[in-house]
Amino acid sequence: MQKITIAIDGFSSTGKSTVAKRLARALGYVYVDSGAMYRAVTLYTMQNGFIEADCFDVEGLISQLENIHVSFIFNESLGFAEVYLNGENVEKDIRTLDVSQFVSQVATVSEVREQLVMQQKNFGKDKGVVMDGRDIGTVVFPEAELKLFMTASAEKRAQRRYDELLERGDDVSYEDVLKNVQTRDHIDSTREDSPLTMAEDAIKVDNSNMTLEEQFEFILNLSEEKIKALHKKKRH
Ligand code: C5P
Repeated sequence: MQKITIAIDGFSSTGKSTVAKRLARALGYVYVDSGAMYRAVTLYTMQNGFIEADCFDVEGLISQLENIHVSFIFNESLGFAEVYLNGENVEKDIRTLDVSQFVSQVATVSEVREQLVMQQKNFGKDKGVVMDGRDIGTVVFPEAELKLFMTASAEKRAQRRYDELLERGDDVSYEDVLKNVQTRDHIDSTREDSPLTMAEDAIKVDNSNMTLEEQFEFILNLSEEKIKALHKKKRH
């Protein structure tokens, strides 16, 4: 069965990873959360004192890049791959608001992007991959057969992220989460290297008023159509 590449980009907390994970499971594809990779590098940057509230030692971080190894290991019981930083499971540590507050700054560093994009391209070299992020359809897989661009109002997105953090037991305020979502959108969309923008051939999905089920069905149908079209093309 011929496989395709599915790129899902969009603003922060638009539910990309929830739908991408489910889609990958339904199609028997590999799911890669590229944001988790930037988050893992950010955790390293914080742990090693290269970034603080008002100072970012970019050169210090760059000098350590060869010592930062990000990998994924599939967790059978969870049904998805968890992220590891230098061999340590950091799946939970990278999802805190603290990491969210620094990640977009770290993601502006071209040397960081270059290293992670190379790894991401490699994950997708055999196709059969669903990857979500900010530059997947534009930079990582410009040839992807299906590109989606997810969006929703900032308030809806902040509410979803806030509920998620509360459920994990994190002590955060809705206002701080909203501010973080808006700041990340701004940095991600205006940075020089690989800014968040919708690929020309992407399909926009505004999920402000869609249930998870509706989004999933919509995207699954699009994927199946693309897979069928690819088979037809191969037969001719
Ligand atoms: O997807 P998630 O919200 O976990 O991503 C965290 C951050 O990582 C984003 O706000 C963005 O700054 C960065 N990122 C990126 N390129 C990607 C994925 C994430 O710059 N492909």
